[in-house]
Amino acid sequence: MSKVLILAEHNGSQINQSTAKVLTAAKQLNADSIDVVLFAADANLSAQVASLAGIAEVKFVECTDNHDQLAASIAPTVAELGKGYSHVFGPSTTFGKDVMPRVAALLEVNQLSDVMEIIDDNTFKRPIYAGNAIITVKTDTPQIVATVRTASFAADKSTDGSAAVTESKLTTAADHTSFVELSSGNSDRPDLQTASKVISGGRGVGSEENFDIVYNLADKIGAATGASRAAVDAGYVPNDMQVGQTGKIIAPDLYMCFGISGAIQHLTGIKDAGTIVAINKDGDAPIFEVADVGLVGDLFKIIPEMMEKL
Ligand SMILES: Cc1cc2nc3c(=O)[nH]c(=O)nc-3n(C[C@H](O)[C@H](O)[C@H](O)COP(=O)(O)OP(=O)(O)OC[C@H]3O[C@@H](n4cnc5c(N)ncnc54)[C@H](O)[C@@H]3O)c2cc1C
Repeated sequence: MSKVLILAEHNGSQINQSTAKVLTAAKQLNADSIDVVLFAADANLSAQVASLAGIAEVKFVECTDNHDQLAASIAPTVAELGKGYSHVFGPSTTFGKDVMPRVAALLEVNQLSDVMEIIDDNTFKRPIYAGNAIITVKTDTPQIVATVRTASFAADKSTDGSAAVTESKLTTAADHTSFVELSSGNSDRPDLQTASKVISGGRGVGSEENFDIVYNLADKIGAATGASRAAVDAGYVPNDMQVGQTGKIIAPDLYMCFGISGAIQHLTGIKDAGTIVAINKDGDAPIFEVADVGLVGDLFKIIPEMMEKL
């Protein structure tokens, strides 16, 4: 039997969906109990976590402000709390990937990264070679510290939970690392990592100005916008729009991509997408091998036609 501790993620006012996705993964273990540790300034967030069904205890660790959530500050507390658990899980997001390796190191175990399927309490599937192959790994470490690939698990939507909440204060704030600034793109569009619809553009879009056509289509259908690394590297779009191995791993219901060839590093970011629609003027582009719907043609003709019909 297992005991699981999950590291919760939030934006200061809302619990990130990644927490509910990691909970779904944890429920697939043969677990005696599942607890969640939450670092936040706002105690109200613990009620959001406590309402998720299947959690025994929410360990609310009060921070003076949300910037205390730096990995260097919270990892020692997660490791200390994690000592009594067989599994310590965090999301495979920027936040989780920052914190969990430190937790693993402090607990003196290897980290298991990007769990995408749970076979049993010690056996997991995870992607390797940029998602080109899936490996099954079995571990016999006394504790398993893992990041969970959020695109591979649906969010646990239950809200009838009533977990107990215990409160403490953060005492491990690092003095060698401090928060300086957070700069993030301001956009009214849905968040790329949680949106149900995503419209992406690649090098084929051709320029920053031309990307307006992609944004217009996205706005028309209420989609988030993404891009290939080539489009980011060319300076057409900011790098927080990058989808793929070194960008964001996403799982929208609908993914439409324009002028993207379908390199393996891009495809690894959309492996769990629902319907993939590809528009490319080259009928031999590899994107058509994974697309559910493919249109061979010029995006500058096809997008205006789509806009007209919508
Ligand atoms: C370690 C590593 C990590 C990487 N990580 C990522 C990653 O996270 N994400 C990522 O995307 N890439 C990543 N890459 C880069 C990846 O290998 C590709 O170079 C990149 O995905 C190509 O982007 P693209 O499809 O936009 O460009 P291209 O491969 O140049 O394709 C452009 C496509 O646009 C089509 N096109 C051109 N004009 C039009 C038009 N008018 N209408 C319709 N179609 C048109 C062309 O036919 C072509 O297929 C990584 C590479 C490495 C080595």
